[in-house]
Amino acid sequence: MALANENYLKTPEVYCFDDIEKSINAYKILHPDKKLLRLGVGDVTRPLPDEVIAALHKAVDEMAHQDTFRGYSPPQGYDFLIEKTLKEYRSIGVSLEKESIFVNNGAKSDLGNIGHVLGRDNIIAIAAPVYPVYENATIMSGRAGNLNEEGEWSNIVYLHCSEANGFIPELPKERVDIIYLCNPSNPTGVAMDRTELKKWVDYAIENKSIIVYDGAYYSYVNNSDIPLSIYEIKGAKKVAIEVRSYSKIAGFTGLRCGYTVCPSELNAYTLTGESIPFINLWSRRNANYNNGVPYIVQRGAEAIYSRKGKKEVKELVDYYLNNAAFIRCELLRKGLKVFGGEHSPYVWFKIPDGQPSMKYFMHLLYTYAIAGTPGIVFGKAGEGYMRFTGFGSSEDTKEALRRLEM
Ligand code: PLP
Repeated sequence: MALANENYLKTPEVYCFDDIEKSINAYKILHPDKKLLRLGVGDVTRPLPDEVIAALHKAVDEMAHQDTFRGYSPPQGYDFLIEKTLKEYRSIGVSLEKESIFVNNGAKSDLGNIGHVLGRDNIIAIAAPVYPVYENATIMSGRAGNLNEEGEWSNIVYLHCSEANGFIPELPKERVDIIYLCNPSNPTGVAMDRTELKKWVDYAIENKSIIVYDGAYYSYVNNSDIPLSIYEIKGAKKVAIEVRSYSKIAGFTGLRCGYTVCPSELNAYTLTGESIPFINLWSRRNANYNNGVPYIVQRGAEAIYSRKGKKEVKELVDYYLNNAAFIRCELLRKGLKVFGGEHSPYVWFKIPDGQPSMKYFMHLLYTYAIAGTPGIVFGKAGEGYMRFTGFGSSEDTKEALRRLEM
């Protein structure tokens, strides 16, 4: 009898993105004449930069010739992409070794898989509300413990974020071993500045903890007080893994490419206290479970570092940021309590009259034909809030906010 990994059955039965899609599809069937405006979508909508398209075409042609054909990629990625990535880090004063970069097929897989190389008994800290992958991966790996009546897991330390702390995660009172930080945050759009992040790095150094730093939205930061990389903070190379992605920077959500940084200084520990370079664990996993990202895709990613590529990427990010800024401004004007939308495509706001987020989602859908994302999909801590995003077209974004005036 083949036994199932029952931890997979334990993921929380709160509303998830699939349920939201089902409600949206039902609405579309019932109202085929109405133009639905999607303000909740977490996916990019603009086409890839021209420079990326040109690089993809060129790489496809290379695959057609004997002397330029490529098979398996090196497991950590091609040097041409890694070198450009290192140069990008150097431009913000961060020097990393070539061996520390692991090109991946986007941030999600590595964020979910990192737990495989870490001991089962680690205490995990996760901000709440947050991108659901960290908690679900912890549950599926059997580390989460038991679910209590508040919908929280006994072995997870929740870093509760709320209006009171401006949705910035605070240091836990107890010792934690692994800390997931998402900066700028999805869903709240709030970004920690250097002072805030330094507290976490210092905490991790003191407690020999590891920070898994999700920098999927780093390119949306446009304020020098907010670091673009955790490695801008002194000592972070000893305690942090940084996961980045080309998805939201350059429209790669469908192409799939990103990278994980594991500096050689970063250690995990055996039960007897012996230090093990994290990179040894991660390289071993990578070599056994990963056959690399397609050559064509890596060439596409490389193109964003050219002068023209950088310009196009900036235009793309600015487009989404302008939408987010518009949403933020309009919601503030309506007197709502609003977070994010400045260094992030995400705008997070408190639902008027304390309505449950799913009810408010349905209200917006059926009254205005607007689809947002109810906060509950990011865990119980997201209840009472709604997420809008700047990923739509600027026309639809303006139209949606205009409809809300009525
Ligand atoms: N991290 C955060 C915070 C995200 O919001 C997302 C996607 O929405 C990801 C990671 C995953 O990105 P990728 O497309 O690179 O897998």
